[in-house]
Amino acid sequence: MRILGIEGTAWAASAAVFETDDPDALRAGTDRTPEPSADHIFIESNPYQPDSGGIHPREAAEHMGTAIPEVVETALDHAAARHDGDGPVVDAVAFSRGPGLGPCLRIVGTAARSVAQTLDVPLVGVNHMVAHLEIGRYQSGFESPVCLNASGANAHLLGYHNGRYRVLGETMDTGVGNAIDKFTRHVGWTHPGGPKVEAAAKDGEYVELPYVVKGMDFSFSGIMSAAKDEADAGTPVEDISAGLQETIFGMLTEVAERALSLTGTDELVLGGGVGNNARLREMLAEMCDQRGAKFHAPEPRFLGDNAGMIALLGARMFAAGDTLAVEDSAVDPNFRPDQVEVTWRGTDES
Ligand code: ATP
Repeated sequence: MRILGIEGTAWAASAAVFETDDPDALRAGTDRTPEPSADHIFIESNPYQPDSGGIHPREAAEHMGTAIPEVVETALDHAAARHDGDGPVVDAVAFSRGPGLGPCLRIVGTAARSVAQTLDVPLVGVNHMVAHLEIGRYQSGFESPVCLNASGANAHLLGYHNGRYRVLGETMDTGVGNAIDKFTRHVGWTHPGGPKVEAAAKDGEYVELPYVVKGMDFSFSGIMSAAKDEADAGTPVEDISAGLQETIFGMLTEVAERALSLTGTDELVLGGGVGNNARLREMLAEMCDQRGAKFHAPEPRFLGDNAGMIALLGARMFAAGDTLAVEDSAVDPNFRPDQVEVTWRGTDES
């Protein structure tokens, strides 16, 4: 089985091919592998880089308009080179249906419909945030982990219960990466700001910032205002960066621990581009270690937006018969993970 995945929710125009010669294992959920090889999940990406400021939806969509056809062509060439025999080079086309920027999603949806109709294969509509979780579950071999999605536009904890991935806790305002990027724009750094905060924090002394956790939810807007005020008052950006990391990641770690405790789960996976941050991974790993839980962070190419995770979840959904008619395939910029009926976990009832 070979599935094309297309991603383009915000900045990464990306296409991938997931391949397995054991679809039965995919159906049974026993196909997990700790290290997918390049052939097993092939990814071609072309990121949008704003000249200044943050991600501009119109510019990002213009980027998708030229980059999506190019990455899809490369992915299909890869699939064709591995294809022997008759029939289409891929068995289905999976695409990110949301959440994300509407103008970008519409280009991805149009590309997916057009390839699926040209090849006469089914369409699979993937929730981007559930895909972040599933790539971690796939790579780790964990049965039923809690997932901390720490990405640009999102920050939440997911856990499986009764046929759906439930949102156990989430940000009450901005996503975690967007919050950090707002601070870095304020001090004049180019997008994306997260890696620059990580580098600067290495030379910084902790500065106290507001720590806002309410039960299972959390908020970043007060921290960002306080961080900007510190910068305006002349506090070194290195010190503010250290304070930001300790405060924000401390909040995420606290809520992740509570999610493990409340669900009784001893498996945690990390998803999203902020997961590239070594300090966040260190805090989560230490927390899991202290409570005897297992922790998995996917390799970098599967953390930020990428079509590999879309192709993988697309393959699982396709194997479960979870396909979409073209007339039902509209994208949804506000597509929440708990709207998705999980069809691909077989008899797994945890
Ligand atoms: P989603 O649609 O899943 O919310 P997104 O496009 O908003 O995705 P991702 O691709 O998951 O975001 O991640 C991008 C974010 O990750 C940016 O905000 C960027 O600053 C942040 N980021 C990347 N590397 C690091 C790092 N080392 N430390 C902190 N933040 C990082």
